[in-house]
Amino acid sequence: MVSGFLFAGLNIQRGNISVAVVELVMAGYSLAILCLIPRVKNLESWILAYVLPFFSAMMVALLSPSSTASVFVWSLLIPMVAHLLLGRRKGLAVSVVFIAVAVVIYFFKFRNNMVLMQPVAVANVAILTLVILALSHVYEITREQTEARLLNLAHSDPLTGLANRARLRDVFAHEKVRSQRSGTPLSLVVFDLDHFKRVNDSFGHESGDLALKHFSQLLKQSLRKTDLAVRLGGEEFCMLLMDTSPAQAMMVAEKIRLKLEQSSLEVAGGTVKLTLSAGVAGYGEDGDALEDVLRAADLRLYTAKKDGRNRVCLKEPDQVCDPFDRVDQETVT
Ligand code: GH3
Ligand code: MG
Ligand code: MG
Repeated sequence: MVSGFLFAGLNIQRGNISVAVVELVMAGYSLAILCLIPRVKNLESWILAYVLPFFSAMMVALLSPSSTASVFVWSLLIPMVAHLLLGRRKGLAVSVVFIAVAVVIYFFKFRNNMVLMQPVAVANVAILTLVILALSHVYEITREQTEARLLNLAHSDPLTGLANRARLRDVFAHEKVRSQRSGTPLSLVVFDLDHFKRVNDSFGHESGDLALKHFSQLLKQSLRKTDLAVRLGGEEFCMLLMDTSPAQAMMVAEKIRLKLEQSSLEVAGGTVKLTLSAGVAGYGEDGDALEDVLRAADLRLYTAKKDGRNRVCLKEPDQVCDPFDRVDQETVT
């Protein structure tokens, strides 16, 4: 925007009115976008709506018979701006298209210029342009990889690799909108390993960690790709089941409870046997906010603990969760 106004002033002085008009329009357009950008929803469309006219205006300036050869230096800005604003793929595509146009303009405009057509001059321009394009692209690749790694770290539990609370919050917010729109149920189950302190006390903290990993694996293997397994903290876990009613979630939790009860883990000091208690809640019927649904599931988990552990509870706290009043395992998928 600043350069647009500045060069428009210079070009008016030089009598180069057509280029000055293009620069003024582009500078005004940049100013308008600068004011709009904090409020827009579809940022990428707006970036394209800025970048494409900006680079096109640059091509008009390159093409202008009265512009000097030094204007071509501006095309080196294309790969940097394109990658910064559009990312790795679209940034490269837009850069290649506009740099190719700039190359055509260069050879067309200076075809009779002995100095600028010398192989050394052409090599200088070509190599520098390619280096800046390559550096912009490689920089953007490493930046995207680092961003993905940091996001993954921020959203997962380091011990088990399961999602953490922050990720649960994000996925729940997204899934609750989908559930509202499509009318499909969404359920949540909170798990707490029974008497876990005894595992640490008997086998040591490291074996306790292995036991937590063992349960995490079992939990992950029991879920569909669309479901989310979460470590809430300590020996408390949770699963978010999409398109699943609380009654169906109870069956899934029951299957996991049974699997854990039947499994065992060999550690240095012997065999660890684990059981779990769980509470089931549903989005909508137990509240709309994640905190409400978690609280309802926690309350039922507490009931399961109170009633003797190693059981899943879906009913209200005053009702009994009988471990032997099981749902038909054959119906569990
Ligand atoms: P309850 O059946 O009532 O849930 O009994 P509990 O012993 O499981 O419950 P409590 O909350 O008293 O103990 C939880 C234990 O989990 C205490 C703590 O040492 C252990 N723990 C929490 N986080 C970790 C961890 O990351 N690694 C290991 N090894 N142990 C952990
Ligand atoms: Mg606990
Ligand atoms: Mg526990």
